[in-house]
Amino acid sequence: MPLSYRLEIRPRRQHPAIQVNSRKQVTVLLPVGFSSTEADALVRKKADWILKQLRKPSLPPKRFVSGERFFLGGTGYRLRVVEESNGRANVWIDDANLIVSTSGPPSPDSVRSTLIQWFRIHAEKRLYERMSHYQSLTGIDVRQIKIGEYKSRWGFCREDGVIAFNWRIVQAPLGVIDYLVVHELAHRHHPHHQPSFWRMVDAILPGYAVHRQWLRQHGAELNW
Ligand SMILES: [Zn+2]
Repeated sequence: MPLSYRLEIRPRRQHPAIQVNSRKQVTVLLPVGFSSTEADALVRKKADWILKQLRKPSLPPKRFVSGERFFLGGTGYRLRVVEESNGRANVWIDDANLIVSTSGPPSPDSVRSTLIQWFRIHAEKRLYERMSHYQSLTGIDVRQIKIGEYKSRWGFCREDGVIAFNWRIVQAPLGVIDYLVVHELAHRHHPHHQPSFWRMVDAILPGYAVHRQWLRQHGAELNW
């Protein structure tokens, strides 16, 4: 049975790679200069691994109802959905609860979008703060920081000096957030993933490998 997959061109990569996301979509990340024939060959070669990923039980989709667990900075909170008859949509933390009030009757969509707005504000605050910490530590210059939502990336560093982060990273433990910040900052000097790049990441954030591993293992759980 031929496996279907999407192709994404990634100029920064040295070698093609395969990703299987939480929705069981297979993507081949292809550096410039590689052909779709090579992507096909890689998919055939890695077919066993891909099928294994596809057969893994998927995470249950979030329903955005009271009792579900959400993470901020690696700390878990129980969602509580309340309806404020004359209030505005709002989110706050009370002990171990993440409370969401919606202006009308709560629906999964309204709870989700209220939560996303709140997480984005936290992401901006946290990422600007960590960027400024590591920028003054390293003296690395950045033109602009952007916070967005990206399908299959946690962050990227453009040649023009713009560094972008996926707001979803704010759910991860603080060390993982720092790893991502250092990773993108190091790309300002090393726009690739060769050993010189990893040496720089290690010099700024020794022990980064454990955070990188966390992201590989748990990244899909942050995607809702
Ligand atoms: Zn990178």
